[in-house]
Formats: sequence, C-alpha cells, structure tokens
Amino acid sequence: MTLDVAWADRWARLSAERIAASKDELTELDRQIGDGDHGENLDRGYRAVVAKLDVTQTPEQIGDVLKLVATTLMSSVGGASGPLYGTAYLRAAKVTGLAELDAQGVVALLEGALEGITARGKAVVGEKTMVDAWQPAVDAAEAAAHDGATTVEVLDAAARAARAGAEATVPLVATKGRASYLGERSADHQDPGATSTAILLEAARDAAADVRGAA
Ligand code: ADP
Ligand code: MG
Repeated sequence: MTLDVAWADRWARLSAERIAASKDELTELDRQIGDGDHGENLDRGYRAVVAKLDVTQTPEQIGDVLKLVATTLMSSVGGASGPLYGTAYLRAAKVTGLAELDAQGVVALLEGALEGITARGKAVVGEKTMVDAWQPAVDAAEAAAHDGATTVEVLDAAARAARAGAEATVPLVATKGRASYLGERSADHQDPGATSTAILLEAARDAAADVRGAA
C-alpha cells in the first residue's frame, strides 16, 4: 500500500493529539535538563498546525502538508526544537513532491527530515538530542525497506527504533543544546526532544494504520 495526502493529514492531526496528551511528560523531562518548555512549545505548534489545516484548502500532495507543518512550527514553536522540527519537515517536503509514497519514499522522507535536523543543529548520535531517536529510526527504516517491508512496516520499524533511541538517551551526557550547560548532571534523564521524536514517529505509523483501515 502506498501512502497519500490523507496519511499526511492524519499524521499531522494525530501528532497534535499525541503531543497534547504528552505535554506534561515532555515538559517534565525538559524541566529536569532544560527550561521546562518543550511540551508547551510543541503543543502550541501542533495546535497551530491543526488550526491551519482546518482553514486551508485541502492540500493535494504530501509535500504540501509537510510544508504547512514546517512553516507553522517555525513560526509558532519557540526554543531550539521549533527551527529543528521545522527544518526537518521542510527538507522532508522537498524530497516528497510526489502524490504517493512507497516504502522507499517513506525512507526518503525520513532521511530528509534527519538531514534537515543535522544541517540545522550539527548534532551527531550520542550528544543526547533528538538525533539519538532520528538516526536509529532512519537506519531501521532503511533496513526494513531493504528487506521488502511495506510502508506501514517501515514506519513501524522507524517508530520502534526511535522509542528505543529515546530511552537510550538516559545515561548520556548532553553536549548540544541547553542540557549541555548541565554537563555531567544531564545524565540519568531522558532527552525531551528524542522523546517527542518517538511520539511523532509513532503517530506516523498509527496514522498509516488508520488510513489503511479506512480505505
Ligand atoms: P530549548 O532547549 O530552546 O528550550 P526545546 O525545549 O523546545 O528548546 O527543545 C529541547 C530539545 O531540542 C532537546 O531535548 C534536544 O532534543 C533538542 N536539541 C537541542 N539542541 C539540538 C541540536 N543542536 N541538534 C538536535 N537537537 C537539539
Ligand atoms: Mg526547553
């Protein structure tokens, strides 16, 4: 099954629901090693995304939805994560011009998002950032597609790897972003941005299952 614009729309809306439900958890994680605004930041951003989707003429292509999410997050999410996620969606939109995505297309979308984040934030794996969820997600998606996985299976592999990657940030010492100001004291906490990445990729997978169920 290929994924079309209905999936992208569902992904954006489900992301908003999941981020709203996880707002307090994300804020608490950010309170421990940052400034306690990550849940607020993303909730504000995704609420604005849904508001814009509701008043915009139905987007025709996946790339149109991703671009709308990108520009909305950039203008409404403060902090480090707004520009990082904004760039991720923008880069993903660029590689996703076509109306429908097959498994390779999903991989390209995720690769684009990771490229956007690393181009903007210059973090590599192990620095206790969202890259620690994105990089294993992209690796797992590439491996799954290589083994002939479907679009939903590729997204499932990505979501599971992102969740494991987020959990694996706990012992790490942050060397990028606000948490790096804490030095060694940033250890023993899960990174908020890696955690929100897991939530967003789980939403991508579940949105694919939803639209498949509706088809
Ligand atoms: P701020 O740190 O400005 O308050 P947020 O709280 O919204 O912004 O987001 C914090 C998250 O941003 C961190 O948990 C981390 O995952 C991510 N982050 C910060 N700097 C970078 C970077 N250079 N590269 C990738 N991710 C980063
Ligand atoms: Mg913060």
